[in-house]
Amino acid sequence: MKPIVLILTVTLTAMMSCTMPTQTEPDVPANFQYKVEQFADIRILRYPVPGFDELTLKQKELLYYLSQAAIEGRDIIFDQNNKHNLAIRRTLEAIWENYPGDRNTDDFEAFEVYLKRVWFSNGIHHHYSTEKFEPGFSKEYFKTVIAEVDVSVFPVSKEEIMNRLVPVMFDPDIAAKRVNLDESDDIIATSANNYWGEGVTQAEAESFYEAKKDLIDPEPVWHGLNCRLEKVNGELVEKTWKIDGVYSEAIEKIVYWLEKALTVTENEQQQKVIEYLVDYYKTGNLRTFDKYNIAWLADQQSRIDFVNGFIETYGDPLGIKASWESVVNFKDTEATKRTEIISANAQWFEDHSPVDPRFKKTNVKGVTAKVITAAMLGGDCYPATPIGINLPNADWIRKEHGSKSVTIENITYSYHKASEGSGFLEEFCYSDKEVERQNKYGFIAGNLHTDMHECLGHGSGQLLPGVEGDELKAYGATIEEARADLFALYYMGDDKMLDLDLLPDDNAYKAAYDDYIRNGLMTQLTRIKLGDNIEQTHMRNRQLISRWVYLHGIDDNVIERKKKDGKTYFVIEHYKRLRNLFGELLAEVQRIKSEGDYEAAKNLVEFYAVKIERDLHKEVLERYEKLNLAPYSGFVNPVYIVEKDDAGNIAGVELDYSEGYAEQMMRYSEEHSWLPTYN
Ligand code: ZN
Repeated sequence: MKPIVLILTVTLTAMMSCTMPTQTEPDVPANFQYKVEQFADIRILRYPVPGFDELTLKQKELLYYLSQAAIEGRDIIFDQNNKHNLAIRRTLEAIWENYPGDRNTDDFEAFEVYLKRVWFSNGIHHHYSTEKFEPGFSKEYFKTVIAEVDVSVFPVSKEEIMNRLVPVMFDPDIAAKRVNLDESDDIIATSANNYWGEGVTQAEAESFYEAKKDLIDPEPVWHGLNCRLEKVNGELVEKTWKIDGVYSEAIEKIVYWLEKALTVTENEQQQKVIEYLVDYYKTGNLRTFDKYNIAWLADQQSRIDFVNGFIETYGDPLGIKASWESVVNFKDTEATKRTEIISANAQWFEDHSPVDPRFKKTNVKGVTAKVITAAMLGGDCYPATPIGINLPNADWIRKEHGSKSVTIENITYSYHKASEGSGFLEEFCYSDKEVERQNKYGFIAGNLHTDMHECLGHGSGQLLPGVEGDELKAYGATIEEARADLFALYYMGDDKMLDLDLLPDDNAYKAAYDDYIRNGLMTQLTRIKLGDNIEQTHMRNRQLISRWVYLHGIDDNVIERKKKDGKTYFVIEHYKRLRNLFGELLAEVQRIKSEGDYEAAKNLVEFYAVKIERDLHKEVLERYEKLNLAPYSGFVNPVYIVEKDDAGNIAGVELDYSEGYAEQMMRYSEEHSWLPTYN
């Protein structure tokens, strides 16, 4: 897996200049509602788009076109996640709109929750665990509902619903997991995603792409990135996602809006970026995709920016095929001063890190970082979204042209606002002092951690000659995330942060350390069912680091495990010693990566990152349940209201924040759904 990036820690704002870290509120409309609703383990939030009003009309128009392009691909991610997802979503929506029976029953309420979860996950599998979630109503109830709704509103016949969709929805053994990473299984055959056609085995998939590997080309394309591999009459065939290929109906709409965007670009470089992307969507040519990425990296001047395409490969157990996503955004110029300071000092951080000099870059280049304001989320970034992104993913492009790293601050700000007064900190912090420190610094420290992780951590270090980068296999992604987190953690406690005015005083990093340890050893367990292991990469990485420093500091009492009123707490007693432990582990993790030491990676991950102490887990779940919170969040988008003059030209663009969750989902399904039910 690539050094890509989705960090899901909840962090803080900085609508403040980095040199004066005061907590000024951003310009948010009066009575803005951050919380929309809560169901199952999900909380739906809303994000404001501060700074939108100050943009020029032309910039707003550009954002509008790109935002439309971001919504048009929604069906693609449903189909990529599982081939029955569109049929199931459309069947459920038809029932929701047309069911004539009693809607005030427990069964119908459970039906609504199920539909909301399907919308949220872009399919029938949990967006995070990737396990299929069960409907909270019976198969028998579902059959009576189907019987009462007129067949004409369904996407497929009632026989197909009964024979094909009902087993997929209700039978726990069918399509059980979207992404199965269990190395003892055939991870392709047992994963329910739609990247690999019926009957394709892991061995076939691996050898197909092994054969395509070009070891001589210094600029190798990412074979398989934008297609499904299918078996046709016993032959393996790539079905490319492009105009006149698979997903053509949706991609045509995306291109329609991108071509509109071409009429209002800010400069020539941005023009070039969009032209390459349009060309790529028309041809499916992966060389064009690389040109697009390089042009995108070179575009440093534009205020408006966006991601739109087949980008991240987390949804494919082999990490080859990319899910469709879009994030439309513009630069937060004030907050970006902070990341500019970090980038400008990248070499200093590399030189002073505690790792073996052989594993350090002598010449750090191409690290660009900015703070952005999201203006529309789409595809795999909607409704659940990352708070930081680092692209592109192709190794050779990163090496030759660098990478772009962003922190999405209006999203972290919304998380922060929505958590206020939830009682969460009071429950899991040991002392009032810890709560106060978190309230005071958590925000700024969290954002800084994200910046450091994305823009320095992932970009730091180098492989020894002869090491390819894929030696760590299934443990590679966890090791890579640990490396980025450790780099950030180590430097948060460095006086350099104060010298650069990135943190206000010597207490701020303590809030970051408290938060990390509390989350890594306890609160992130709220996302896991009792008895299960930790599987998700970022969660594994956080527990790996937290448990390692806890156990290695036990004799020195660096972190003390305490009990108060029957409740467990992990309390940091020696912050500087803890920082040294972060440094030690960073050195070891970098060694593992640089040498490609698979055995060491495996031992580290299996020993520290996977297993959970059952009694502690049970306690954390019980304490959390009393708070009545949801461990996962996602967002509804703003609605773009366009005003036109008599000649039909756009005369104004306003954002409306009043749309509800189901309302938005149904509108998208009605106005932006183009794909056939099966693709
Ligand atoms: Zn990362």
